[in-house]
Amino acid sequence: MKEQHLKLARVLISKEELRAIVERLATEIRRDYQGRTPLLVGVLKGSFIFLADLVRCLNMPLEIEFVRLASYGAGTTSSGRVRVIQGISGDIRHRDILLVEDIVDTGLTISHLMQTLHRKGAASIRLCALLDKPSQRKVDIKVDYLGSLIPDEFVVGYGLDYAEQYRYLPAIYALGKED
Ligand code: 5GP
Repeated sequence: MKEQHLKLARVLISKEELRAIVERLATEIRRDYQGRTPLLVGVLKGSFIFLADLVRCLNMPLEIEFVRLASYGAGTTSSGRVRVIQGISGDIRHRDILLVEDIVDTGLTISHLMQTLHRKGAASIRLCALLDKPSQRKVDIKVDYLGSLIPDEFVVGYGLDYAEQYRYLPAIYALGKED
């Protein structure tokens, strides 16, 4: 597929469905972390809208950090190499970490991050992902809080980009080919 010929195709998950997903995930997370103050780690850039909606819905004591990793460049397939652009600066020893990811595809990005956080001494690490594309999985990853399974299509919107475009879209769209 020639990447310059991609165009917006169809809505895969509507704005209303996204709201219902976030509310369900927040209910599950609030229940499981009762009495604790988890450290939510947002994986930039794609998770920024999801994380912002999730924390407002959670309405419980928590802290937030961000990491920025890259494995895609400007294309639609993972390069397989994970680069840390911005790591966690503070001490995470004995912290209950909840990773907040936009989408798990091959699983390489999140598994790389989980290994790093384990090495830094986190007490627990769980994963909350808005979307999961299991068909491309290369490593075994357990998604503890999952928004929605999706087919093997490249998606944009609600924070997710294609070459830095489309993050502002309020729903999740699958990209298609230009006619
Ligand atoms: P993985 O390492 O699991 O293959 O890739 C995870 C990262 O790749 C995600 O955090 C996201 O940035 C990017 N990614 C994977 N699939 C898609 C997709 O369909 N659309 C967009 N916009 N990014 C994706």
